[in-house]
Amino acid sequence: MTSRWIPRWEVRKIKLNQREEEVCFDLETKMFACPRCSPICLKGGIPDSGSYFFNEKDLTEHLLAHKYSLWTKRRVQEREQEEEEEETEGNED
Ligand SMILES: [Zn+2]
Repeated sequence: MTSRWIPRWEVRKIKLNQREEEVCFDLETKMFACPRCSPICLKGGIPDSGSYFFNEKDLTEHLLAHKYSLWTKRRVQEREQEEEEEETEGNED
C-alpha cells in the first residue's frame, strides 16, 4: 500500500531566530520537509524518511525543537534501556 511520490524540491529560505535557514519545499505535494531530518532534499534527492509539514509555521517550530533535540534524547534513552535489558539477559547463565 505504499505509494511514493517523486518530490520536486525547491530550496526555500525561512526566518529562524533572526537567521535564515534553507528548507525544502516539495512542489508536488506543497509540503515542507525538514532539512535536518532529510538533508538529501536540499540536493534534490529522495529521502527515505523525514518530517513533512503543511505549513511554514509547523516547520519552524520543528526546526526550533531540533535545538533541544527532544525526541532524539528520548530515543537515545530508550535505546540505552533496551541494550541494558539485552545485556542482563545475556548475563543469565
Ligand atoms: Zn527535523
